Amino acid sequence: MTPLTLPGLPELRAGTLYCIGRNYSGHAIELNNPIPSQPVIFIKPLTSLTFDGIIHIPSFVAEPHFETEIVVALGQQVKNITAGKALTAVAGYGIGIDVTSRDIQQQLKEKRHPWFLAKGLDTFAPVSSFIPAEQIPDPGNLSFNLDINGVRKQNGRTSLMLFPVAEIISILSKFVTLYPGDLIFTGTPEGVGLLQDGDLLHANLGTGLVTLEARVERDT
Ligand code: ZN
Repeated sequence: MTPLTLPGLPELRAGTLYCIGRNYSGHAIELNNPIPSQPVIFIKPLTSLTFDGIIHIPSFVAEPHFETEIVVALGQQVKNITAGKALTAVAGYGIGIDVTSRDIQQQLKEKRHPWFLAKGLDTFAPVSSFIPAEQIPDPGNLSFNLDINGVRKQNGRTSLMLFPVAEIISILSKFVTLYPGDLIFTGTPEGVGLLQDGDLLHANLGTGLVTLEARVERDT
């Protein structure tokens, strides 16, 4: 497999895709999940990452959902970094969709199995190009949103994160060494919903900082 260069950060190649679940109370509540006291952390395989703007949904997925999320790209190798220093390791920010087979995830949750088969499919992690971190003075005060076919579906503000970006990096780095090119999906606000064949998605970071354009191709 060809290593994927991060658009906007051409010196970096994509590494591990870390994801934070239930990082906004509004989304935890809409799915009847408890509000976590520790971040919910999972990974997606590199094969789910795409910059091509196509979300491919296999026919066995009954309820593909969109989850719009700020995506953090790391630029340094870090281990056991404090939250106070963690933002120095960030190379840039983008916007992505944590595509989720909600029906499969529900079945997995009932069996207490990992979410991998609901979230790790090919193209289930479409991401925009990245804005260098120097251009984002305060990542704790970013807005983002998702339009599908021209209709606003989700609005988010990073100030509402239960675990801010610096804290996520600090906590992750206690467990694993983080490498340049690793990506962190930082969780979705409320408003998640179904993706349909042919849907056109525009996910926006800030006011026009960067946009992810993606189209859904669903097998029948
Ligand atoms: Zn998510």
